[in-house]
Amino acid sequence: MPELDFPKGVRWSCKRCGMCCGDTRGRERRILATEYEVDLISEFTGLKADAFSRPTGKGLYTHAIKKVNGVCIFLRDRSCLIYEVRPLVCVFYPFSMGLKDGRLRFELTRERCPGIGEGEVLGREYFEGLFQAYRSVMESGARSLLERLRR
Ligand code: SF4
Ligand code: SF4
Repeated sequence: MPELDFPKGVRWSCKRCGMCCGDTRGRERRILATEYEVDLISEFTGLKADAFSRPTGKGLYTHAIKKVNGVCIFLRDRSCLIYEVRPLVCVFYPFSMGLKDGRLRFELTRERCPGIGEGEVLGREYFEGLFQAYRSVMESGARSLLERLRR
């Protein structure tokens, strides 16, 4: 487990408002996904990748989930239709993860999230859990890529 920085004393509990699943005034929500996550969603939904995503053409996050009228196509009645396989960016919200000076750093979004300030204070364990989720997706993604290359 790498050294970890995270915001201290933050309370958060998701209110399931769906606000982070679409654009809000002055902010365009980009729902990015890795190739492996797109494959998982395809498998889960039975849909082809281009039915729900478009290529970003760069980086690790090779795809962006499509939106309709500014809202993620997988949002229905404020619920996520692909909750079990939703991309990491959705799992992490309202936090983002980056690397700074060799340390993992979680930061709180500056966007509005009604869940911030609610519920329990999130401690190290919570952020370690997010990192484990990240690691699991990346490792499975790497394995899947190797298998594909071997074929
Ligand atoms: S905006 Fe915040 S409270 Fe609302 S669904 Fe997203 S994470 Fe949950
Ligand atoms: S994939 Fe699910 S959690 Fe992520 S933005 Fe779409 S509806 Fe929301």
